[in-house]
Amino acid sequence: MANKCIGCNNCGHTGWSRDRGNFIITIVLAFFFLLPAVVYEIWRRTGLGVCENCGSNLVKPSHSCTSNKPSDVGDLIILGVLGVVGAVVVMFLYALADIAINSYKNRNAPPQEITQQDYEASCMLNGIEYYQSIKQHPITNNGELVLDKVQAACKGSKDGKYKAP
Ligand SMILES: [Zn+2]
Repeated sequence: MANKCIGCNNCGHTGWSRDRGNFIITIVLAFFFLLPAVVYEIWRRTGLGVCENCGSNLVKPSHSCTSNKPSDVGDLIILGVLGVVGAVVVMFLYALADIAINSYKNRNAPPQEITQQDYEASCMLNGIEYYQSIKQHPITNNGELVLDKVQAACKGSKDGKYKAP
């Protein structure tokens, strides 16, 4: 953070430094790109800062400041606001991306599409009907459980039809 006691090599002023750069630039950057705005704002607050009298960056650390150090509360508020704005923008972009992905998915996958599960369920239903029709439901003449037999025969079914053994 700036707010350091500095002596200016340009005008000879000794006092508390200001953030370098311009907050207006941060606002303009934030309007278009959030991340560069945050990086720019962090850059403004690092280093010694600039002379509060002439704005020069030709400054050196000093111990002869007589006034009280200005409060950092303003800095903390600005960083807090940037954080909140950042979170809101990220959530907004996330929601936009979510909507875009969903509309893309819906366009490419019509709800009527038959899945592998549908084929297998249809096949099993046909299989059970087959065993009911030959009066071997729910246990076959060999003592096997029809459900197990049909399930095994229908695994990976491609057309939903049950092929009687
Ligand atoms: Zn100066």
